Amino acid sequence: MARSAPAEALRIGGLTPLTTIDFPGKLAAVVFCQGCPWRCGYCHNPGLLDAAQPGALGWGDVLALLRQRRGLLDGVVFSGGEPLAQAGLPDALAQVRALGFATALHTGGMYPERLAAALPLLDWVGLDVKAPWARMAAVTGAPGSGERVRASLALLLASGVAHECRTTWHPGLFPQEELQALGTELRHLGLRDWVLQPCADPRLPGSAPAARQALQQGVAQALPGLAGAVVRGGPAV
Ligand code: SF4
Repeated sequence: MARSAPAEALRIGGLTPLTTIDFPGKLAAVVFCQGCPWRCGYCHNPGLLDAAQPGALGWGDVLALLRQRRGLLDGVVFSGGEPLAQAGLPDALAQVRALGFATALHTGGMYPERLAAALPLLDWVGLDVKAPWARMAAVTGAPGSGERVRASLALLLASGVAHECRTTWHPGLFPQEELQALGTELRHLGLRDWVLQPCADPRLPGSAPAARQALQQGVAQALPGLAGAVVRGGPAV
């Protein structure tokens, strides 16, 4: 059964009034949803992970900003944390669309059923494919996460909703050969837009500079036929 709650129930950890990079081709606001069930070692938003943490602002604050920015903003991105962890997301998406804004979602893909319910309300999705399926649990700390992301990707590819997949990589997370094999598999599944991001985890040797160098010097160029593959934070390939 689909979970639903009013948008007012959303716990919101933060709000960015304007971004030019989180929703391709659109000027957008970003709503950061509180709570995520995964524990990736390189998480860049650890303050958003605790689902029990009360929100820093309310849905009414988001609506007030959007009403002020009509004609100035094109869309709203729901990011996190994990937006699909909250039952108020579908109502929030519907309200945003009713105000005339396009909608986008950043998700780790851990809730395929909820993604399926939200897709008709979305104009763009950024799905993290954090690792090859068999390696996913080691990155997310969540058993079974590989199967869940794979199911989410299949739903997204079949939906017709515009999207990209993102992989954050460092040779200390999994080998370069597996990254290339993942690229080949994603291409065969039908993905066109794949973004590779150097991983900035201070516990990994060399961290982001080492990962960026490896991506730019050989890995990305070797990706077989993924015309839409780019290294974010470095030159396009
Ligand atoms: S899925 Fe995203 S928000 Fe959740 S722990 Fe991983 S990086 Fe952080």
